[in-house]
Formats: sequence, structure tokens, C-alpha cells
Amino acid sequence: MSERLLKGIGVSPGIAIGSALVVRWTMPEVPSRVVPRSQVSKEVRRLRAAVSDVKRHLLDLRVKAEDRAGVDEARIFDAQVLMLEDQDFLASVEALIRESHLTAEKAYEFKALEMRDLWSATGSPRLKDKLADLNGIVIRVLEHLLHRGEDNLWDAVTEPCVVVAREIAPGLTVQLPRDRVVGLVSEEGTRTSHAAILAHSIGIPAVMGLAGAVERIATGAMVVVDGTRGTVLLRPSAAEIAEARKDDARRQEMTSQLEGVVDLPAVTTDGVHVTLRGNVDLPEEIKAARDHRAEGVGLLRTEFLITGRTALPTEDEQAAYFRRVGEAFPGYPVVVRSYDLGGDKLPAPFRAPAEANPFLGWRAIRVCLDQPELFRVQVRAALRAAAHADIRLMLPLVTRLDEVQRTRSIVAAEAETLAAQGVEAARTIPVGVMVETPAAAVMADRIAAESDFISVGTNDLTQYTLVVDRGNARLADRFTPHDPSVLRLLKLVADAARAAGKPASVCGEMASEPLSAFLLIGLGYETLSVAPPALPLVKWTVRQISAARARDAANAALDARSAEGVLDIMGPALAEAVDVKLLFTSPGARLPGGRAAATLNL
Ligand code: PEP
Ligand code: MG
Repeated sequence: MSERLLKGIGVSPGIAIGSALVVRWTMPEVPSRVVPRSQVSKEVRRLRAAVSDVKRHLLDLRVKAEDRAGVDEARIFDAQVLMLEDQDFLASVEALIRESHLTAEKAYEFKALEMRDLWSATGSPRLKDKLADLNGIVIRVLEHLLHRGEDNLWDAVTEPCVVVAREIAPGLTVQLPRDRVVGLVSEEGTRTSHAAILAHSIGIPAVMGLAGAVERIATGAMVVVDGTRGTVLLRPSAAEIAEARKDDARRQEMTSQLEGVVDLPAVTTDGVHVTLRGNVDLPEEIKAARDHRAEGVGLLRTEFLITGRTALPTEDEQAAYFRRVGEAFPGYPVVVRSYDLGGDKLPAPFRAPAEANPFLGWRAIRVCLDQPELFRVQVRAALRAAAHADIRLMLPLVTRLDEVQRTRSIVAAEAETLAAQGVEAARTIPVGVMVETPAAAVMADRIAAESDFISVGTNDLTQYTLVVDRGNARLADRFTPHDPSVLRLLKLVADAARAAGKPASVCGEMASEPLSAFLLIGLGYETLSVAPPALPLVKWTVRQISAARARDAANAALDARSAEGVLDIMGPALAEAVDVKLLFTSPGARLPGGRAAATLNL
């Protein structure tokens, strides 16, 4: 079975059964051709005409996306139009046509490949997500310039098929004939890829990030795609297909249970209300957080405002975005995290020196305080948005108390300036700390005293406590927030915040996973900020469990000797209250990983 079971990332839940259709979308071959000087202006005109035709096409796709996926998802195509019309980029293509007398398609290809290499080299997962968008646009512009129409691939498809490709562009996702394409599999892509977001909204089960998919899956082979678990089963037997259908039916039953809790309060069986907020990385996620009734945004990541762009975002642009998010959650807070640049996030307009250990280097709040001109723009934008909504500011990677004090001075100075300039803005905003380093966790009592709120970033806290690079696949089984050392820090922080009378929450990934949410509630956290698709599942879990039982189990887990020991205590305690098998195979679920899966017999 194991060589027939391929593992990728489940990006859109559900089960799809069909025959594979392997599609190889590639960049078209562009002949190398120079034109006489007299034709140079004509090539520039051809380029501009192609860009405007492709723009029209993208706007058509936008209408389709709005119809099939929703208003927010359709904005993905606005971002694509912006990318297509990037004036700096087009000026560089035109300059190349004029200088080297290249055809429009050759010059466009050259500059596009140059940009693609630059983005690939950063290694940033967020930029990788944008690469699929870029490739989709480049293929369209080149095909247009080469007068190649779109192949009508779908005419030949008569039975339910699963499309398998190296990379899937967002445009393709909204054009799929839904009656014939039942699932998607790709080698590139993650949960945050635009194609993944659209597949999720349209409801097509999809697995992405499956290395070697195109080589290993043959056209015509029967496959079972499990978009929840992120697996593709090749050549299933009749019994396996029957099992998959049964699984699908059970999950649909769970889905309707999850839909049923959306409007109910997140209260444990012993009456503890757990506040559930959403983590928003990209504007597309606002809708899911709202639809799942998030009580505000507990982590608004702001790096996307810079990533993949050639210029820094303006104060107006940021203020408008923060206000838009704030107004999407009336009566609830939106926690804007100041730029977490550096580490694995190195966008192009941000010129950072190469470092031997970027995760131990010039990152996050250190960058903001060292480059106050960058930070002040963001602070001003937050203050302006705070005149219209409950906007709060949170600082990533704090290791020293003076980072909080220096930020407070900047906030006070900018509020003063805005007032003096007569700009509509709040006089101040709450400043909180993201506790995601052991230094901050150990100093949590002092940090709680000096800040307005605390939110624990367990992704980085785990990385820095265990000295395990969070992105290193070789160390993946060592990266666990369930290690007792991380648990003890989490307990220390929760106790310190309570003693200081300051609110504490958790916004790291673990809060989105039901077993860990149970553990965090047991450790004393009553506010969790969760990936929007996981909100119903976490709420459903909260409604099944008792906080007192979670506390007893968490206290016992604090004495465990290892992560496995912690899970051996927490798993069975959770299983007393919920059907864990159903829980971990339901939409939005993430497996707790390693031994927990075995302990819970998943
Ligand atoms: C974290 O570190 O837990 C966190 C939420 O921040 P990020 O994943 O953006 O580093
Ligand atoms: Mg972090």
C-alpha cells in the first residue's frame, strides 16, 4: 500500500475519486529573434496591446471567480492585474526591446524569468505561493504574443477526472468544468497558494506540494484524492474505493455537525467561554474568519503588504487595509502584528544583508526599531485605522523589555504628530507582545507588567526553545510544541499574565489543532487565535470538553518526560469526551503528528 499512497499537503478538504489527467502546462517556446530598428516601436505597441488583452481576460476570470467562489476570492484577480500592470516591470521590458531590438515576447520572457529567479532565490514560502500567479500571467502574455489560443483541454474529458500538474494557476481553478473535474493534485503549492484558496472556496478536493506527482501518476490511472489528509491513493481496489466513500460520508456528517456549531458560543461543558479569533495572513482569509464567526483577528500578519512587490506599501494603503479588516469585525479587536521581516521573510524592497544565521539575526522588532522610518509608517497607519475600529499593535520576536518601551515612545510621538497635523487618528493604541522567544517567556511577568496584552507565538517559541529550525524537514519530528519544555514555558506565561491582570492568548499554529487547543485550555489560555478554516472544529471541540478535565490532564502533562509522554496523557483524556477519529479526519483538522496519531489509533 505504502508505495501506492502518496503524501502531499491537503489544501482543500473532501474525497475525490476519478481517473488521473496529467497536464503539462509549460512556458511556451519563444523563438530568439531580433527586429530591425524601424520595428522597435511596433514591438512596444504589441507588448502594450497584449497586456491590455490579458488584463481583460483576467477581469473576465474575476467575474467568474466572484460567481463561483465569492467576492473576497475574486480579489485574487485584482492582485493579478496589479502584478500584470507593474509599471517598473513593464518599463524594464520596454527598455530591453528598445536597447536590444528583441521581439516583445523575447524581451518579456527574459525579464519574467529574471524576476522568477529572483523570487525563487529568496526561498520564502509566501513568495513561492506568488510564483504560481506569476507563471500563470507570463504564460498567458507569451501565448497571446505568440498568437497561440488556449487549448480546449476540457472538450476531450468525458468522465470524472483528477487534474494532476506541476503547478496550478488560480485562473485555471475558476475555469474548471466542475461536472468533470472532481479533484486537483499539484507538485507546487501550499495552503496559502491562490489556487488552493480558490479550490477550497469552490469546494474541489485538492492536494498540493506532492513532490514527483507528474512522474508518479499516469494519465488514466484511477486515484483517490483525500484533500483533508493530503494523500493520493493510486490504483485503489474496489474495497479501498468503498472505504473511501464511507469515510467521505462520515466526514460529511461531521461537516454538518461543524456547520451546526458556527452560530453557537464556544463554551466548555463546565461553562468556560473560550474566545476564538482568526489568524489572517492574506486578505482572502478575512471572509473565512467572518463566516466562521471569529471574535476578531488575533494575529493580522502584515508581511504580505511587502512580499512580491517592488516598493514599500504607503501609509494610506496600510491604514485602508487595517481599517477594512477592523470594520469586518465590528465590536471585536484586530491585532495588527508589526512587520516580521527577516528570517525566512525577505521581500524584495527590503534590502537585508546576508546573514549566517538569519533566524538569530536581524529580524522582526529588531528591524523595525533599527529602521524607524519603516516602522513609523506602520504605526501611523495603525493609529489612523484605530479611529474607526478596535485596532491593537503586537510586536514580534521581543527579547528585551526596552523593545516595548521604545515602541511605546514611537506610538506616542506619532500620535502627537498626527494630532498636530489634524489627521483623524486614535490618541493611542494598546501595545502587546508576542511571546515567542524563551527570553520573553522567562521574563513574562515583567513583559506582562509593561504591555497591554500577550499572545504566544508557539511556532517560534518551539523553534527557539528546542533549537530546531521550524522549516527543516529533516528535523520535522523533533519540532513539537508538545515538548514538556515548551509546555512549562506556556504555563509560566499564562500564570504571569493572569497575575498581572493582562489578557493572554495563543496565536501559534498549535491553537488550530484540537488536541493542542484542549491542552492550551488546560494550561489556562481562554483566548485562542486560529487558522480560519479550523475555527468550527476548534469550537466544536471546546463545546465537547470540560475545562476542569483539561486542567487536570495538562497538570499531569507538565510532569511528563517527553512530548510522547505529554501526548500519552492528553490523547486519552480528549478521547473521553470526543470521537477522536472523526475529529482528526474532519474538515480543517490537522493531525497532531507522530506518536499522538498512533496513541489515538488514527
Ligand atoms: C509564531 O511564531 O507562532 C507565529 C504565530 O508567528 P509566525 O508563524 O508568523 O512566525
Ligand atoms: Mg513567529
